[in-house]
Amino acid sequence: MSLDCGRKPEHPEETHANSTQTEDHPCIAWSGLSRKIPVLVFHAETVVSKGGEFRDIGERYNLAFKIVRTESRLVRSILSSHGFHEVHPNSNDFNLMWTGIHLKPYLLRGLQDFQKVNHFPRSYELTRKDRLYKNIQRMQQVHGFKRFHIIPQSFILPSEYQEFCSSCAKDKGPWIIKPVASSRGRGIYLVSSPNQIPMDENILVSRYINNPLLIDDFKFDVRLYVLVTSYEPLIIYLYEEGLARFATVKYDHAAKNIKNQFMHLTNYSVNKKSSDYVSCDDPEVEDYGNKWSMSAMLRYLKQEGKDTALLMGQVEDLVIKAVLSAEQQIATACKMYVPHRNNCFELYGFDVLIDSNLKPWLLEVNLSPSLACDAPLDLKIKASMISDMFSLRQRPVSASDVDPSGTKDKVAGKDGDSTLGLTAEELKVLRKIKEENERRGGFIRIFPTPETWELYSGYLEYKTSMNCMLATRLFPESKVQARMAFSSYLHRVQMRLLAESRGNGSSAWPERDDDQMELVVRFLKRAASNLQQDLRVALPSRRLPLADRRRILSHQLGEFIHCYNKETEQMVKKMERLAEEERCVNPDVFQEFVEEASESDLEEVLTFYTHKNKSASVFLGTGCTNAKSGVASSGRTSQRTVEDAQQAMGECSALDPSLSTIRPATPELLTLSSQHSMGYPTALDYAHIQLQHCPLPGPPGLQQSGNVTACLGPATVPAPPAPEPLRPVHTCFTPPASTAVSSVPSAVQIYSQKLSRPTSFRQAPRKASLGKARPGSAGISKDPDPAVVPPLITPPVSPNQQAVVAALQRLAEKQATRQYSASSHINLLTQHVSFSYVTFTF
Ligand code: ADP
Repeated sequence: MSLDCGRKPEHPEETHANSTQTEDHPCIAWSGLSRKIPVLVFHAETVVSKGGEFRDIGERYNLAFKIVRTESRLVRSILSSHGFHEVHPNSNDFNLMWTGIHLKPYLLRGLQDFQKVNHFPRSYELTRKDRLYKNIQRMQQVHGFKRFHIIPQSFILPSEYQEFCSSCAKDKGPWIIKPVASSRGRGIYLVSSPNQIPMDENILVSRYINNPLLIDDFKFDVRLYVLVTSYEPLIIYLYEEGLARFATVKYDHAAKNIKNQFMHLTNYSVNKKSSDYVSCDDPEVEDYGNKWSMSAMLRYLKQEGKDTALLMGQVEDLVIKAVLSAEQQIATACKMYVPHRNNCFELYGFDVLIDSNLKPWLLEVNLSPSLACDAPLDLKIKASMISDMFSLRQRPVSASDVDPSGTKDKVAGKDGDSTLGLTAEELKVLRKIKEENERRGGFIRIFPTPETWELYSGYLEYKTSMNCMLATRLFPESKVQARMAFSSYLHRVQMRLLAESRGNGSSAWPERDDDQMELVVRFLKRAASNLQQDLRVALPSRRLPLADRRRILSHQLGEFIHCYNKETEQMVKKMERLAEEERCVNPDVFQEFVEEASESDLEEVLTFYTHKNKSASVFLGTGCTNAKSGVASSGRTSQRTVEDAQQAMGECSALDPSLSTIRPATPELLTLSSQHSMGYPTALDYAHIQLQHCPLPGPPGLQQSGNVTACLGPATVPAPPAPEPLRPVHTCFTPPASTAVSSVPSAVQIYSQKLSRPTSFRQAPRKASLGKARPGSAGISKDPDPAVVPPLITPPVSPNQQAVVAALQRLAEKQATRQYSASSHINLLTQHVSFSYVTFTF
């Protein structure tokens, strides 16, 4: 489905000519290099206003859709109200096919480049309960059970009966029985003993999570909406809003209740049959009755003192890992059956159960999540979500074909490839993804981001150059600035070594100088291993006089900096032609700052980058495109970062006994800590710990800790009064110790933003919970909790630094909002829904 080819335009110029007539139309946005390609923006309120001024858009561009084997009034309503014309299910003359089933291969093969369909081939690898479990089990075997322990242990019977019996010996149950390919709670029941399980059917038996998190004593689960717009490269979005669905009978896990579906199952289709089901007819109220919005549920939990940021971080982790488990099969099927890169997209419904330890469990992934709107809250959330999804998917399929500004020439033009290093195809994909992101509405791209690429790319089984290209091109400028800061930092160290080598040449503490140099060399070796060019780094012989060793080391540093800067320059050149929107700190301000900054200022900036990217590899390099290795190896990056951290930790501990209290950084812990800033420093942090907390050379009486250290710390900076082994660095970018872990613009801020956004409760008086059988209201605090988002940066020192600090803060905010945009559009829709829900009859 795309505007330029409502039934594909015969003359691209014609499309452009048409589109210029609609420049100010609320449904039109402009894309392409020259911003001259029209794309359609959907408006959720049309489902109740029935189109009005928006109707002419679809008509003007002659856009058509068909709905096949599904009852989706919401989709029909949104498309029709934007002037899309519905064609017969057998017609081939459509832009969008919305179907409730998978497409047969021959139908997929027949798709034209402007046609879109809402399923990928072989999506059942995710959406069939047995296939999902098998795929996750495979990931557990390959990558470790714990990393993929996201789904309750399950068995497919009768084939895995033996395994099931041996597991029963250890785990007494209860167990939950599900048909392998059903939905809506149909055919699901609980058993307390294996001999109650029928052996003549294909079923999935799962360990029953009998300690669900309860709200007002009721069990609930969460429906999340996950949009995949491509499997190669893999692009995953999570919608910012979802639904919490409650059981209708209070939870009591006593055996006598085992048959009570209204207590153990949370499906709407099950519980709506209960006389205790309470629906809410006020779209402004999101936390009343048996269905709440996900954000209302999170606010409630937050008020109860639960760490909702950690929870949602784990939810994102679970979503990405589940999609990754089926990525290879689906990407391979796309290659076989799908003729054009943009033909397919898919909206999955993820069902997640949270246990009393706040661990989310994936229960299942729905192929065609229900878009029924039985309550105003459904309509509000689902209409916004579907509109955002259509807006996000609206992109001219062949921008370079239709862009009248001659994009194609630019891409493949005289120095196109050599300058940009991208093929025309790659450039097209990159633009598509950036443009998708601009129109993401309430969708949050959760993969790839700098953080999730670092954490999960190692699990990509169908890793292609397209995936790696995205990782290096989507977030380039922040990388360049981090590298500039790193280079300047090393330059300061180099200058200091040189100055020291010109001093008197003797040292009161020769061992300390040796250790210091060893640390510099180790550090350099790691950094040099990521250079494209080979650079030998060696420790100067201890037999040489100290001054000579310092000079040699400073020379090696100089060589490294030279090569490193050359690579940074290449990056800058490539970036010059990339879109403006990736810019972060104003380059001039940043340049000025870097030139004037002291060694410790730069350490602070590097610490910021290390935190922001959850790894020092943003400036040290990841080896993803490392010419030396010749392999796109970022899959190994996380592992290597982990190993480096462990190694560095070992080294630091060896040098400084006070550091031996640091817990081992297991991959799992690092994964979690990276996502939620929970605490385990990365390799550079460890180096920083060493740099910052080691006592400086000087007479024994002045030492703070008496440890043997290798200290790169600037000689002019006084030693810190008392080393704090677990705090990586003191820094003007780091908030007070108690909130230090929140300084990273990560899930904490993202979800805090979500938690504090205006909700139903701002407009509506709080309703009392239904006394009889309903979870009560969340009792939302109306104002954003200032403690939730701690000040990112404490007052800066110099005006220049102030500018950088401010710019970095803006960047952090921008990155946070890139993840979680305030869902004002959903709330806007509330008004429309309030007035018109009654007339919107489904
Ligand atoms: P369906 O596709 O039929 O909805 P689900 O797997 O989503 O099947 O299960 C239906 C309901 O059963 C869930 O919403 C949840 O309340 C409950 N449930 C499913 N699996 C488990 C489990 N392993 N532990 C606890 N409750 C479960």
